[in-house]
Amino acid sequence: MRFCRYDDDRYGVVQGDKVHDITAIVEKVLAGKKDPRWGDPMITHLDEVRKAVGDVSALPSKPVASVKLLSPTARPSKLIAAPTNYHAHVAEMSERKHERPASKGIAGSGLFLKANSAMVGPGEGVHIRFLDKLNEHELELLIVIGKVASEVSEDEALDYVAGYSLSLDMTVRGGEERSYRKSCDSYAVIGPWMVTKDEIADPNNVAFKHYVNGELRHDANSKDLIWNCQKLISEASKFYTLYPGDVIFTGAPAGVGPVKPGDVQTSECAAIGNMEVKVYAYKKPA
Ligand code: MN
Repeated sequence: MRFCRYDDDRYGVVQGDKVHDITAIVEKVLAGKKDPRWGDPMITHLDEVRKAVGDVSALPSKPVASVKLLSPTARPSKLIAAPTNYHAHVAEMSERKHERPASKGIAGSGLFLKANSAMVGPGEGVHIRFLDKLNEHELELLIVIGKVASEVSEDEALDYVAGYSLSLDMTVRGGEERSYRKSCDSYAVIGPWMVTKDEIADPNNVAFKHYVNGELRHDANSKDLIWNCQKLISEASKFYTLYPGDVIFTGAPAGVGPVKPGDVQTSECAAIGNMEVKVYAYKKPA
């Protein structure tokens, strides 16, 4: 199933080009349940929600193109991200002077965190800060954790997954720490929805493409990940307990490039879905 959040914090299931409203069903499942201290309440109870939803075709629906898509996970306890996890991306970055010192590779650097407040859905857009600096897109396969996970092995890692999405790890280039440069508001786009893991035969074989104003930037497949999905989950769970709704940005493939206000980013992925993300200049709220 394809679970989304949309408009004014509604829950939906996407089928074809329609989003069916399951908000009342989710609220009924969650009613009376203790709010988890960490993690997303809906994804914590995803199995129960799925059973309660059943056949969505009779539920009220809207064209998916007409709704404002939000991040499918509402309340992750953390946004985990993988640096330099495709050899071809490591190679393209090693040619750039402003990324010195050279990458230690993912085995040397491990993972990093993006601020939760950076998270948005595709319908909210990316709001660029530091217009004088290089701001770039990194389109990445995203893992959504479904169960509490600590010190899990690679063999059992996929048992802890709820589903998969696409994600934009938006980045200000520079010499500062990754977590600083990649945590501006709206620099963590998650969407267009979460596809439950039963629909993805092998997360380490998902093809995806990314375009800016129609120009192809990424043409990638997660089979080229250096740390594959199982390894990412296992390694992350050695350092932190993973909670339902937590996410892992699996890393940028080659083809990262600049974006500026006015650009339209489009992502294509047959296994997950397509998404469109508009780029604006950041404006301080009045
Ligand atoms: Mn990245």
